[in-house]
Amino acid sequence: MKVPFVDLKTQYAGMKEQIDKAICRVIENTSFIQGRFVTEFEDRFKKECGAKHCIGVGNGTDALYISLKALGIGTGDEVITTACSYISTSETISQAGAVPVFVDIEPLYHTIDTQKIEEKITDNTKAIIPVHLYGQMADIKQITAICQKHGLQLIEDCAQSHFAELNGIKAGQSGILSTFSFYPGKNLGAYGDGGAIITNDDDLAGYIRSFASHGCLVKHIHEREGINSRLDGIQAAILLVKMDYIHEWNRKRLENALLYNDLLSGMDQLRTPQIRKGAKHIFHIYCVRVRNREKLIRFLAENHIDTGIHYPYALPNMPAYNYLGHNPADFPVASAYQDEILSLPMYPELSREQIGFVADKIKEFYS
Ligand SMILES: *Cc1c(COP(=O)(O)O)cnc(C)c1O
Repeated sequence: MKVPFVDLKTQYAGMKEQIDKAICRVIENTSFIQGRFVTEFEDRFKKECGAKHCIGVGNGTDALYISLKALGIGTGDEVITTACSYISTSETISQAGAVPVFVDIEPLYHTIDTQKIEEKITDNTKAIIPVHLYGQMADIKQITAICQKHGLQLIEDCAQSHFAELNGIKAGQSGILSTFSFYPGKNLGAYGDGGAIITNDDDLAGYIRSFASHGCLVKHIHEREGINSRLDGIQAAILLVKMDYIHEWNRKRLENALLYNDLLSGMDQLRTPQIRKGAKHIFHIYCVRVRNREKLIRFLAENHIDTGIHYPYALPNMPAYNYLGHNPADFPVASAYQDEILSLPMYPELSREQIGFVADKIKEFYS
């Protein structure tokens, strides 16, 4: 048996006719950049996210950069974010001219530790960017309260959490701006790069739509300089097809995760992921913590089971942030976890037999 880490081919095989037809329609309509398919997707996505506006952009990284620019964040400002994310989250803070200020993660859920946020707030702090990591929301109620108390802007990085929820609050509903990625491997993935920003703020929505398209809403009238970061028609048409399936896929991922949790429970050498009370976890990543990780990875690979590490270094420990002079001991949880975390295969099409095979091989390794 083979268990790839993700399996986008099987997903495509099950919807080939619809996808191919959608792509052809875009070409026949020559709606390559923006146009009716992008508008149709934006309308559908914002509705299902419970937001007033959705602006499609080039990718999830640009969505963060554009959000920071729209909020006027730049030189001299500090933005607080989690020590555990993909580099886009902090990279864009620097791109905007501000300084990323990292906060350690909660031991149980791997998201930003809200107990450790306030000690990092200074007069220069302008915003907090929590990341709803692996498909589970950070403690958004607490983060919203901190932002309100200190007058900070809240940007939610929802790249891994399309339609996740916590106590009835959807991912992206608490931030003044919230960002999504449609990178192919994400729960809702395009066949190339794609991203979006959602918001309820009319002015910010207008600014973002113009900034992402050269500062221009009416052809050749540039109200400002902007950038070129747009969702293209083919990606939007593909995403529209996938919108009919996403909730079912998220449900299947959860079902798969619960089966893994069950089969891997009670082991000394492995910790299964914890789900918050009141959470709808969408399991973008199924991340366990293990002993003897490198040897386990090799053993699983020999048995045709692919795994990943998300991420091998906590952000403050990445070479890119050497200049900030952090010590791993400043982020004890994230630094300890970077050597223990292991992502097992996770996608909706994963079969019970495949999950059973992965669990059996892990148990065999430790026996
Ligand atoms: C994937 C991801 C991004 C970036 O998205 P791209 O579309 O690849 O640019 C940002 N933040 C997080 C947490 C991600 O997982």
